[in-house]
Amino acid sequence: MDDCLFCKMVSGEIKPDLVYETDQVIAFRDINPQAPLHALVIPRQHIATVNDAVPADAALLGQMVLAAQHIAKQEGYAKPGYRLVMNCNADAGQTVFHIHLHLLAGRQLGWPPG
Ligand code: AMP
Ligand code: ZN
Repeated sequence: MDDCLFCKMVSGEIKPDLVYETDQVIAFRDINPQAPLHALVIPRQHIATVNDAVPADAALLGQMVLAAQHIAKQEGYAKPGYRLVMNCNADAGQTVFHIHLHLLAGRQLGWPPG
């Protein structure tokens, strides 16, 4: 997708602050962090929203969660805890239409979320 910000990060046209990558996903620090650790895990493949995922994407979606688990461990947040969030469409506040898993850690997170 030519006009997709996160596809440009995958291609290297825009350089994110990378924290982890595999052959299927990359992860980088959020530009507007909401917690001491705020990383975004994205698939290299463009999927616009969670609504657009299909059964063939199941392993990829699982790899996103495992990447977040790896980063949380790597940064020392496995035991204190962390939150994984995927926003879908307007009511959830999705602003970038290439799916991404938010990894938030390093402070007490409120529930329910706003
Ligand atoms: P969402 O609201 O779930 O679509 O989340 C999009 C996230 O992307 C927000 O937390 C933004 O701060 C983050 N974001 C937007 N542009 C960039 C960028 N250039 N580098 C890193 N994170 C970004
Ligand atoms: Zn994209």
